[in-house]
Amino acid sequence: MTTELPPRTRGVIALLESNCTVCMICARECPDWCLHITSHTEVEEVPGSARPRTHNVLDRFAIDYGQCLYCGICVEVCPFDALHWAPEFGYPGTGTLDGAGAVAELVHERDVLGTWVAEVPPPPPLDAAAEPAPETTATRGARGGAGTPRRPGALRERT
Ligand code: SF4
Ligand code: SF4
Repeated sequence: MTTELPPRTRGVIALLESNCTVCMICARECPDWCLHITSHTEVEEVPGSARPRTHNVLDRFAIDYGQCLYCGICVEVCPFDALHWAPEFGYPGTGTLDGAGAVAELVHERDVLGTWVAEVPPPPPLDAAAEPAPETTATRGARGGAGTPRRPGALRERT
């Protein structure tokens, strides 16, 4: 369930599974230990290669929203943009009115986290008043020169 929410509402965390390399950084940095990730390693023989190639395969990715602080650390630290805020607030798991079943049901598995990817809003537009990105304007300077013209003056003087 979605509705009109303020733009900075955090909602829930969506998992873009194809981006996840099972690096475990999010699980290690979560202050509340509410990310549950398990995986196994697969070995692949590569013809012509001296050694086989190994890669991680995700077996389980779940978030216990009964413990989650909504701090966003996992979203921030993921180096592969696999975690995103989605403006969803009506997920199941609050249990009955007397609270029965609430904790167990608030553990949401990868399939549920994956469905929220469709609700992740596009990134906000770039600030029209911002400087252009250096990589779009930089010119290759002479080796040992004063640096690219777009570099901030204080840095330019030191190179
Ligand atoms: S938002 Fe914070 S508490 Fe919740 S899963 Fe991410 S790191 Fe853990
Ligand atoms: S930090 Fe990102 S890539 Fe690494 S396990 Fe977590 S979600 Fe997957």
